[in-house]
Amino acid sequence: MSIIRTENVSYEYRFYSGDESEPQTKKALHDLSFEIEPGQFLAILGHNGSGKSTLARHLNALLVPTEGTVWVDGKDTSDDYEVLNIRQSAGMIFQNPDNQIVASVVEEDVGFGLENLGVPTEEIWKRVGETLERMGMSAYRDSSPNRLSGGQKQRVAIAGVIAMKPKCIIMDEATAMLDPNGRAEVLRAAHELNREEGITIILITHYMEEAVDADMVFLMDKGEIIMQGTPKEIFSRAGEIRELKLDVPAVTRLACELKEAGLDIPDGILTSEELSAAIEKAAPPAGKNAE
Ligand code: ADP
Repeated sequence: MSIIRTENVSYEYRFYSGDESEPQTKKALHDLSFEIEPGQFLAILGHNGSGKSTLARHLNALLVPTEGTVWVDGKDTSDDYEVLNIRQSAGMIFQNPDNQIVASVVEEDVGFGLENLGVPTEEIWKRVGETLERMGMSAYRDSSPNRLSGGQKQRVAIAGVIAMKPKCIIMDEATAMLDPNGRAEVLRAAHELNREEGITIILITHYMEEAVDADMVFLMDKGEIIMQGTPKEIFSRAGEIRELKLDVPAVTRLACELKEAGLDIPDGILTSEELSAAIEKAAPPAGKNAE
């Protein structure tokens, strides 16, 4: 069974601006149908305003579709009785680490969600210890979250989510406010949880590089998924991506420039290793030609 399934999902924001009596509307998602299998690492890319956050909020019932249906772990997100179960199955990490801190001590912050679920105290401390260890944050157990770096705060937020034993974690631009080290820390943690615990990861990002190691990539534009495939399939279409005024990973961009300059380099290069092998094949060093 898919961990997430959407069928013909559309979403329209309704809002009032100025003193109009009728609400204005903005359609942010258009007829989305897709399935995500358990254990997948999915990256969702797209411009600002393309609908990524709106989609993310549908995946743990923070929003429910105006039309169509979203199922999380088989449960319909429009069913009010299932909302708590859905939020336990699909935890969410948001962009701003500071907005996610709820307690003045790290261990209390991690245990907060469990307390709300009514988990017995002994079990809470056990899980808090395990998850802090899992996220490499045990040494900060008694610290104030305010003293941590952005990357560490996000790892505490992830610990709070995994303490609830979710099947899926949705990261909505969770690396956007971090420095390069913090981004790397959080991305590494996401991959480890995916690989070692089999947790499905849905990573929403505008950093193309972060999608390179995903199993699957969705590219969104104007509320639609306009491309869907493996990173190699997606970034092989560098020309189309650039036409959408989006970037491709730096290595892919360099490979494209070398190709345009006349070197015989294949499309969809994602890593520096692939690029150096392709360059060596296209233009072997003089010594190798002679062999
Ligand atoms: P992204 O996450 O890709 O930046 P969003 O999902 O935030 O995109 O936004 C999709 C569209 O919906 C945009 O046009 C945005 O302006 C609009 N939108 C987002 N939130 C609201 C809101 N609360 N009220 C009205 N329109 C909104």
